[in-house]
Amino acid sequence: MNEGKMIFVVDAMYGNLATKLRLLGYDSLYFADIDDDKILQIAKDEDRILLTNDVALVKRALKQNVRTVQITKKDEVEQILEINQRYNIGKCVVAGNNSRCPLCNGTLHKIQKDLIVTQVPEGVLKQTNEFWNCISCKKLYWEGTHIRNLQKFVSKLNELL
Ligand SMILES: [Zn+2]
Repeated sequence: MNEGKMIFVVDAMYGNLATKLRLLGYDSLYFADIDDDKILQIAKDEDRILLTNDVALVKRALKQNVRTVQITKKDEVEQILEINQRYNIGKCVVAGNNSRCPLCNGTLHKIQKDLIVTQVPEGVLKQTNEFWNCISCKKLYWEGTHIRNLQKFVSKLNELL
């Protein structure tokens, strides 16, 4: 699906899944420690798909018409496939413009190279022309840091999607 991207709220335990979803461009809130009422409320208020392992929480969510997927697998590729079985994700793309900040879920904006010369190792500056920074936490990203690492993951995922 390409129209109106799905957004998620991810239950404790699945921080790695939240990180992957963010890198793939999905707006994904994550709370390491949150009670069931609160996470349900967020899912409901913001129309987010709830991702959790907790059977009781899944039942409550369904009763309240909150979209939810019970995650049972350990591997993140398989976890994304579990989401895909329920809500069609379609082929994934990795691109700086598309990703969200893996740390805080903020959106990434392209930033001019001459503005960040003091913040990046020289070797990186020589080889890289595209940089992005997170509008929320200000962390700086470039291809080497988050795209290449993800390429393998995405190829594997796309083969299965
Ligand atoms: Zn950030």
